[in-house]
Amino acid sequence: MRRTNKLRLRPEKEQEKALFSLCEMSAVLWNRINYIRRQAFFENKFDWNEGVRELYEEFKPILGSATAQQIIRKNDRAWRSFFSLSKLKKEGGLPPHVKKISPPGYWKDRNSNRRKLMTIIRNDCYRIEEENGKKWLVLPKGLKIKITGEIRWRGKQGSLEIFYDDLSGKWYAHESVEVNQQGHTIFPKKAFVDLGVVNIITAWIEGERRAVAFSGKSLLSDWWYWTKKISEYQSIAMKVNGKKTTRRIRKLYRKRQLRFRHAINTIIHRFVELCYEKKVGEIIVGSVNGIRENNDNGRKINAMVHNFWSFGYIVERLKTTAENFGIQVEFVKELKTSSICPKCNSENVRKHKRLFKCFYCGFGAHRDVVGVINIARLSQTGGFNGVLAHPSVVRPRISRL
Ligand SMILES: [Zn+2]
Repeated sequence: MRRTNKLRLRPEKEQEKALFSLCEMSAVLWNRINYIRRQAFFENKFDWNEGVRELYEEFKPILGSATAQQIIRKNDRAWRSFFSLSKLKKEGGLPPHVKKISPPGYWKDRNSNRRKLMTIIRNDCYRIEEENGKKWLVLPKGLKIKITGEIRWRGKQGSLEIFYDDLSGKWYAHESVEVNQQGHTIFPKKAFVDLGVVNIITAWIEGERRAVAFSGKSLLSDWWYWTKKISEYQSIAMKVNGKKTTRRIRKLYRKRQLRFRHAINTIIHRFVELCYEKKVGEIIVGSVNGIRENNDNGRKINAMVHNFWSFGYIVERLKTTAENFGIQVEFVKELKTSSICPKCNSENVRKHKRLFKCFYCGFGAHRDVVGVINIARLSQTGGFNGVLAHPSVVRPRISRL
């Protein structure tokens, strides 16, 4: 299993200069190889070898051979993944949370148009030294930079990515680590999950009397609050200097996203912990195709879903968090799971706001509960007949700073 240690670099003035020039030149290399490849791709004559040798020779003395090679390889991987997604798309098998694919982009910030400053250090070219609770990152050419942050994962050291955050002026390093998880028994139970917006997660765990729902309401209102703030500043910026964006506005966008992600992480963590306590070994998730098309949610929610919502992020977090607890995540195709009566299979149903009602047998329940029960039915699990019609709702609190 691959894991990432997220660390913060605290370079001194001179060290920061060295980092800046290393990252600048790394971005130049990435952008140049990527330019060649994009041009060739759009002219239908993509060639993996074109320009590679020349660029490697040119950047070897500047970046060191290991880093030059790492950057070219990272670009290779980006293109390979683009090609394999394109192939899946042609075959109609794109994963449900991938909405749009495009060829690898440049290391450039879309708003400020400046180069994205980052670089990659090969696994055998750095080490982390620890002494009396203090830590240093030791890089080639005698660079020894103070670092902070928890080393959560120990294992076989992989490559290290260093990057500079333009907005906060801070340096970060992500160290990839290969961890082997052993001796963990796999729990027997399953949990069934329906992902949504009003309730981020609705889940039913085998054997439980009641489904549980993790409300997304506070998250929505928080998102709405920052969205309004952004548009206030935008109209001011428009009046004052005719600009659509400013540094402050970019910071607000960032803040809105970080808060969203933080809230999602909290919810997912609580859910996965619950699964672990209940001895769940596998989480089954209904795929999330229908949500964007469902316009029955009200104006605010629709605005958020269309402009911002990222199921890709939620799915990725759920997978990683569950894996960390030794729990598997599976996806099932969710065919009309919210519009079939779980009791009698009738499609003669009515859905209004959060309620579901079957006209044939009279069954009525909370809509998200119907969703999870149907996902469980699809997976041919029994025992959901006694599940209560309404979930118990968990409402995570978001503090407004
Ligand atoms: Zn029915």
